[in-house]
Amino acid sequence: MSNPVAALWHNADEVPDRIAVRDGDRTLGFAQLRHRAAAAAARFADQGVGTGDRVLLIAPSIPEFVINYYGLHALGAVVITMNVMSTAPEIGYVVDDSGTSLITAWEGCADAAEAVAADRSLPFVELGAFEADADDAPGVEGYAERDDDDTAVILYTSGTTGKPKGAQLTVANVIAVPVEFHDALRLGEHERWATALPLFHCFGQLVVMHDALTWRGTLSLLSPFSPGEFMDRLRDEHITIACGVPTMWNAMLQAGDGHSAADFADLRLACSGGASLPGEVIRAFENHFGATILEGYGLTETAGTATFGNLAVDPKAGTVGRGLAHFDVEIRDPDGKPLPPDTVGEVFLSGPTVMKGYWNRPEATAQTLHDGWLATGDLGSLDADGDLRIVDRKKDLIIRGGYNVYPREVEEVLYGHPDIVEAAVLGVPDEHYGEEIAAVVALRTPDALDADTLRQWCKTQLSAYKVPRVIAFVDELPKGATGKILKRAIDRDGLTAAG
Ligand code: ATP
Repeated sequence: MSNPVAALWHNADEVPDRIAVRDGDRTLGFAQLRHRAAAAAARFADQGVGTGDRVLLIAPSIPEFVINYYGLHALGAVVITMNVMSTAPEIGYVVDDSGTSLITAWEGCADAAEAVAADRSLPFVELGAFEADADDAPGVEGYAERDDDDTAVILYTSGTTGKPKGAQLTVANVIAVPVEFHDALRLGEHERWATALPLFHCFGQLVVMHDALTWRGTLSLLSPFSPGEFMDRLRDEHITIACGVPTMWNAMLQAGDGHSAADFADLRLACSGGASLPGEVIRAFENHFGATILEGYGLTETAGTATFGNLAVDPKAGTVGRGLAHFDVEIRDPDGKPLPPDTVGEVFLSGPTVMKGYWNRPEATAQTLHDGWLATGDLGSLDADGDLRIVDRKKDLIIRGGYNVYPREVEEVLYGHPDIVEAAVLGVPDEHYGEEIAAVVALRTPDALDADTLRQWCKTQLSAYKVPRVIAFVDELPKGATGKILKRAIDRDGLTAAG
């Protein structure tokens, strides 16, 4: 029996005055945060929310997200979070699929959510900025005790195919996340964390927010991400751990002229995850900022948790580290048989944060969970030390004329070109080869490169069959809410024509 708020409630007694959450000049101490969360819980209870009720929370990465998220957990509600950019049909889908009984949204992004609630005659609570006098608001006493296997959060993910599915993460899953990361990150008594990740996603919510607040750290939030402002925060707030996705480190490098390693003397660790981090970016980041950048790997289905780079040894570029404390990683062939080291196959994970299953999707759950092991849909290999290399997503593999081409390998090469800032490689249909390799690249200076010159350069780095035949130049690549490059948003028909 426990609750995802248990650690926060306890820490409010132990370190009441320490700053728990900071958003620029706005700060909340641990005791204050517990008090506001308890007051939010009382407001939701007045609206009829109780244990096991599904509640949809839509808010940016600001202190109000944290307050209301923990307030809902205190009541034992199942918290569902969504992107603030979500449209009414997207919200309606999640509300209907999950059986949401109340919707709550931040005042700046409430219109679509409110319309969905009105349409279904569901109660709606608009969230406003916390007021100075909110410290006097009455709150609930204590928190609801829940079973370990009760669902605590449902996070929707598109995964490989079809409509988004709700990954059900249990109370035990959520509480296990900070336990898994504690030793891997060598957490000290008072870490200062910074992130611009969205808190509706597993990485920002379950890894960064829960880690920071469980281990009595200070969580500094920035929303939306701006590389210059983020670097100012790292310097001014003496941040010790920064968390982000590869596009953020890359953007900081591009904007980094005004900052140097001296500004980041306190930055012990930059944690990257969510997508592969090109080796070039790691090297440039460490040279420029003098901070260690380590990669972790996880999925919504594992609460964003599974492997992390090993701080005890020199980071092995190109790997996402080893299974965390209680995780096992296996590489399996299409028949489910484990493969030997250095052989590429599907990555399977087992550990304490693996989801209970998809909400109301027994078939999808059966395809994904096998005797406690999660089939990730990612291709990778383990080396003799147990370090995992993610090769690509299974569905992104390009088969050109019978040869397998991993887009990530080609992207790594493109990131090595001095004129290229961002790159994505994908397969496009081709009559002769079945699929052809297409690269979409953003340049540092427009027109610095043409397609022929880039193809010639690629030929010096890659076997001929891996060289992109179709090359398109864009100002910027499309990105999802976490900042990951969104390959599915690239117009593939346009690419064939651009060839
Ligand atoms: P959506 O829900 O929008 O479909 P998604 O498929 O990216 O997004 P997430 O759960 O956010 O779902 O991301 C998990 C996936 O991200 C993994 O399956 C893997 O493909 C990729 N990923 C995560 N971390 C890394 C990493 N360090 N290196 C390479 N890929 C990674």
